Amino acid sequence: MHSISNHLASIRERIAHAAQRCGRQPESVRLVAVSKTRDSDAIRAAAAAGVVDIGENYLGEAVPKIDALGDLALCWHFIGAIQSNKTRDIARCFQWVQTVDRLKIAQRLSDQRAPDAEPLDVLIQINIDAQPQKAGIAPGALAEFAALLVTLPRLRVRGIMTIPRPEPDSDAQRPAFRRMRALFETARPEACTHWDTLSMGMTDDFEVAIEEGATMIRIGTGIFGPRRP
Ligand SMILES: *Cc1c(COP(=O)(O)O)cnc(C)c1O
Repeated sequence: MHSISNHLASIRERIAHAAQRCGRQPESVRLVAVSKTRDSDAIRAAAAAGVVDIGENYLGEAVPKIDALGDLALCWHFIGAIQSNKTRDIARCFQWVQTVDRLKIAQRLSDQRAPDAEPLDVLIQINIDAQPQKAGIAPGALAEFAALLVTLPRLRVRGIMTIPRPEPDSDAQRPAFRRMRALFETARPEACTHWDTLSMGMTDDFEVAIEEGATMIRIGTGIFGPRRP
């Protein structure tokens, strides 16, 4: 658990350097700790070291951890594939959903978000390198899709996220990140007051993502160590 705070210190230092290189404030980059396969003690250790935002991919794995950590003021981000029979629990347990790419799912999340809760913060997932069989909408479909999402009353559309095709070298990710930045800046829907989040960059490429404008990065192994298969 000691190593989690050491890893975090080193990640934060690298965030600060990457931000400095491009004239940004380190605070302009929000860090989401991705805790799939980790237990609640590991998340507690990250929280003790100052982490607030936690990303989970699987509902069944996440719910027991969210319950066990109810004494902490954490912000939970759903970052996995969404099946329609899971939307009710996702809308109940999470503050953010980063992987919205179907209108039907978005409608269910909006309908099922409790009236007394804050609106659900959502990001639209983009398939930035047009990989077949991959989640996310095509860049060319973003404007129309976003315009529909902003009409859903219980969602707050915050921006876009992507998981680009893995590359052996993080610099090879730069063109995809740059296309995301351009989309983010041009596709803000009219009447959308909260369009402020560009979620891209993981352990192997977050510095390049920050240089290209990421406002949110999602780090798993860089904080918690290698995942067991
Ligand atoms: C697992 C995962 C991450 C974190 O990946 P690392 O390489 O461990 O940092 C980020 N985003 C999503 C959507 C993930 O599934």
